[in-house]
Amino acid sequence: MNGLNRLRDGKAGVPRPIILTSHPQRRSATKPSLRWGEADPQQRGPVIATLADPALRNAIGTHAGSYALYRALAVASGQLRADHRPDFRDTRPAAGIGPFAAWSDASKIVSLDPWGHLAPEIFATDIAAGHDIRPSIAVTRAHINMPELAQALREGRLLPDGEVLLPNGDVRVTKIAIEPVWYLPGIAARFGIGETELRRDLFEQTGGMFPELVTRPDLRVFLPPIGGMTVYLFGDTDRLGSEETQIACRIHDECNGSDVFGSDICTCRPYLAHGIEACIGMAQEGGLGVIVYNRKEGRALGEVTKFLVYNARKRQVGGDRAEQYFQRTECVAGVQDMRFQELMPDVLHWLGIRRIDRLVSMSNMKFAPIIDSGIQVVARVPIPDALIPADARVEMDAKKAAGYFTDAVPDAAELALIKGRAL
Ligand SMILES: [Zn+2]
Repeated sequence: MNGLNRLRDGKAGVPRPIILTSHPQRRSATKPSLRWGEADPQQRGPVIATLADPALRNAIGTHAGSYALYRALAVASGQLRADHRPDFRDTRPAAGIGPFAAWSDASKIVSLDPWGHLAPEIFATDIAAGHDIRPSIAVTRAHINMPELAQALREGRLLPDGEVLLPNGDVRVTKIAIEPVWYLPGIAARFGIGETELRRDLFEQTGGMFPELVTRPDLRVFLPPIGGMTVYLFGDTDRLGSEETQIACRIHDECNGSDVFGSDICTCRPYLAHGIEACIGMAQEGGLGVIVYNRKEGRALGEVTKFLVYNARKRQVGGDRAEQYFQRTECVAGVQDMRFQELMPDVLHWLGIRRIDRLVSMSNMKFAPIIDSGIQVVARVPIPDALIPADARVEMDAKKAAGYFTDAVPDAAELALIKGRAL
């Protein structure tokens, strides 16, 4: 019997066994199979990361990404029962998404569960039989409103149509929250490395958090403890998956300082707002707008590293200038970027997108994997010069010099100019 140590539950005083998941349970023959890429969801099987019955688990990790740690605090402090099961009544998707052809292509989608929003419906019988199966995607509807859009209305760049954009500036959207679900053989293939190497580094770099990564090769799906993404769709979602539907799209990586607080050292929020404007325009023309918002703060280096880099840039001898932009990041983080856009196109395939008519991005790091994954890009939309804040000129010049999509590549003299504010 694995690890059946008795632990006294602090709150209720009830002994609760610690069940180690590092080795198969005796009943592991009963664990439902998970065949990634199967077209029929019943054949594919549910992703089961249940904590209640380790013998039934066919995935490593747990739902809710990094928020699983808050769940642990809620259980530890006696506010949540460890065996709580969600009641999924009325939680079904507010809009139908898919299925699309890419859902059954094990190479096209490796970092999310294409059936994640439909799990309570597809596996209703298993759930009724007591299996703890949870959705990893939720689809709802909302109105959004941003000052930039109100300004676009005032300046006549956008006109209300009463459907997508209302006269008060409200925009009707479908928003989709997606948790990461990694099919490890597919992730390894995407990076051109072996699955064993990948598992070992995932194990070691999380401080040994998930022993199954190295002890359970039979478990090939991993719910990593990281942030996921939110998709905002503008226009009629029934247009998804149709060849005729024109698509405007911005893939945006989180930048809390700019996105939420309007910090002026980068172009993140202005570019996001420009992308949303393009999405509304496309929806009004009968197409669809797609904003993908990835939780990859500070190029996935995290905000602490990001702010350290800001200080290093602004304090360095010679001031904040484009020629030193990437080097200052590398000095602190060891790399320039950890966003790994190799996984990013998955969500586009999940949405049934095969062509992007207007890609609101200048980044080659985003453009290349989209094209390589088989999605055609018709036009790339740069950020209008007027939207670039003064202190963000350093970043923009550095990126243009490093291969950003532009017809005005700055020369060495330009890159050497101090353009950023001092601390
Ligand atoms: Zn930013």
